[in-house]
Amino acid sequence: MRKLYREKLRVIEAYQWFKNGDHPLDSPDIATDPSGVKIMGEGKIVGFYKEGDNNHYNDDFSKPCSVCNKSLKIHGSIEEQGVKLRVCPGSWIVTNKDSYKVMSNDQFIEQFELVEE
Ligand SMILES: [Zn+2]
Repeated sequence: MRKLYREKLRVIEAYQWFKNGDHPLDSPDIATDPSGVKIMGEGKIVGFYKEGDNNHYNDDFSKPCSVCNKSLKIHGSIEEQGVKLRVCPGSWIVTNKDSYKVMSNDQFIEQFELVEE
């Protein structure tokens, strides 16, 4: 006899990231650049994406991102289960218990819709 199940609905917390400081828990410090100008420091959840951050990609900062085709200099970096991952502008940061998961906008809108409170 055939048995069918429907996936349980679950509510998740997520934020779309476009630039440093976008995640509500980023609370970046104010830093000072070498010329003495005050700048926004690195986010605490999504940090700056730096060369060598991710060994899954062969990063060449002179070339655009292989995923979104934007400059790697405007990307973020987040640690997911001990591995640093690249965050493309427009990606979603999904709170997953006590860690975070990065999803592309396409993946996210396929799986989730906004819950009106
Ligand atoms: Zn990208």
